[in-house]
Amino acid sequence: MKETPQEKKIHENMKAGVLTMHGFLGDDDRHFHEIIAEDKAALEKLGLSCYQIADKLQQITDKAYNSYQDSILLDDKLLVSYNSVRGKTICPFGHPGGYPKGEIKLKNLENGRTIVWTPLNIHMIREHCFFEGEGSKHRLDPQIIKKTLF
Ligand SMILES: [Zn+2]
Repeated sequence: MKETPQEKKIHENMKAGVLTMHGFLGDDDRHFHEIIAEDKAALEKLGLSCYQIADKLQQITDKAYNSYQDSILLDDKLLVSYNSVRGKTICPFGHPGGYPKGEIKLKNLENGRTIVWTPLNIHMIREHCFFEGEGSKHRLDPQIIKKTLF
């Protein structure tokens, strides 16, 4: 597949040390198009959409952010904490504006699974269906999301 100059720029932005220290690709050798295509196929099998996941992550984020507590318990089983960090990070796909650098951590007390995400993850899932590469610090695997949240 031939890359357009814009795609090349996006790919560059995703590398470690460009926009964020760890980047968005982890040790994944696939092009971001392939990562997105494979995750979309996985989502189809799971019966979930990027929007559903983004909405769910956003609702949880808002509740945790607005609670002003160290951690909150949702649905009697999801333990959530919001760790604020100063500063903003920007979307590697070139959207204007910044996303808060905080991190949201969630543990499902029924099965012990934990996932961590950032406000930028929610944006990238909603707008780009991008869950980051394998091995990336904030990679959100659709299967694990399903087992943890749905
Ligand atoms: Zn974007």
